[in-house]
Amino acid sequence: MDIQKNSSLKNYNTFGVHVACSTLVNLNSTEEAQAFVNIGLDKNKAHLVIGEGSNLLFTKYFDGTIIRMQNKGIELIDQNNKYVWIKASAGEKWDDFVKWSVENKYAGAENLSLIPGTVGAAPIQNIGAYGVELASIFNALEAIEIDSGKLHRFYLKELRFGYRDSVFKQKLKDKYIITAVILKLNKFPFFKIDYGNIAAELEKMTFENLNIGVIRQAVIQIRTSKLPDPKEMGNAGSFFKNPIVSKEKYENLKQLYPNLVAYPLENELFKLAAGWLIENAGLKGYSKGKVGVHKNQALIIVNLGEASGKEILEFSQDIQQKITEKYGLLLEREVYLI
Ligand SMILES: Cc1cc2nc3c(=O)[nH]c(=O)nc-3n(C[C@H](O)[C@H](O)[C@H](O)COP(=O)(O)OP(=O)(O)OC[C@H]3O[C@@H](n4cnc5c(N)ncnc54)[C@H](O)[C@@H]3O)c2cc1C
Repeated sequence: MDIQKNSSLKNYNTFGVHVACSTLVNLNSTEEAQAFVNIGLDKNKAHLVIGEGSNLLFTKYFDGTIIRMQNKGIELIDQNNKYVWIKASAGEKWDDFVKWSVENKYAGAENLSLIPGTVGAAPIQNIGAYGVELASIFNALEAIEIDSGKLHRFYLKELRFGYRDSVFKQKLKDKYIITAVILKLNKFPFFKIDYGNIAAELEKMTFENLNIGVIRQAVIQIRTSKLPDPKEMGNAGSFFKNPIVSKEKYENLKQLYPNLVAYPLENELFKLAAGWLIENAGLKGYSKGKVGVHKNQALIIVNLGEASGKEILEFSQDIQQKITEKYGLLLEREVYLI
């Protein structure tokens, strides 16, 4: 266990915002985490569990305890003739887990290659990319209840996964420290290449037989060519969620904007591409002071210099207002505001 007072969080948020907290704690095992919440944590003050800070926006000094799970380990805990159950510690990097699963020829996670962050954070917003969501390979997770210090196991149904959503963003928000995630992967590969540019990227590549390693490579190539690297330009990936609207709203917008990009969902609902809405409003590359909309990815807000969290927040509110004025709908934040 490592406890630091008045610690900077600049290296723990991918926006690169200069902000500090009163206490920062690194925990290396489930036992350490239990001991800390039982006797070390000041429960009268605020607390927040973070991973790599790739989905966070700090807007002010955090007067409380920031907890980082640093436990490591990936192990096969069960298998049958079709599936394997893999337990990955919360402190592992998500992409190290994906790399491990691909190297071991266990399928299901490859489309989620190169998503920044930790294993422990992956269930919080049900990470997703290229037509796959964590929910499709999730089996269970283990987490310590901060109030009682007790270790619980939560199974798929209890997570109430939705689009960038889970029970840990709703009823159980900030109440648990996730210590491990159990994923159910396939021994027999199946390929999901009908989403985004995967098929087009595969066309450009040379390989003998399609396999999950090739798909991972294609996803990595697409992501590195498209997305800004937070080490070079602070960002937290998609800043907003894709709005979900009624059929009536979709049809009204489609009439006004025939090129509108949208995906039909169940129950006559439609998911609109937020990036398209922003770009079509002329805001791609738009900037104000030290904050901007990325020049190639309209859904990503970037820190162009030493912007503060407050400046980034205000800029995002400006975008929200412009989108509401143009389309009559609200862009909800995907990034967690602190
Ligand atoms: C360039 C870039 C690209 C991205 N692309 C994608 C993408 O394709 N798809 C996608 O879904 N996301 C994407 N993201 C967002 C981000 O990578 C994910 O949300 C990721 O899961 C966040 O992991 P983290 O460890 O950084 O969590 P943090 O940002 O530190 O925390 C996120 C949330 O999880 C909670 N949390 C973290 N760890 C724990 C724990 N152990 N126990 C309990 N709660 C915890 C925090 O309290 C917070 O609410 C992208 C981000 C960037 C910067």
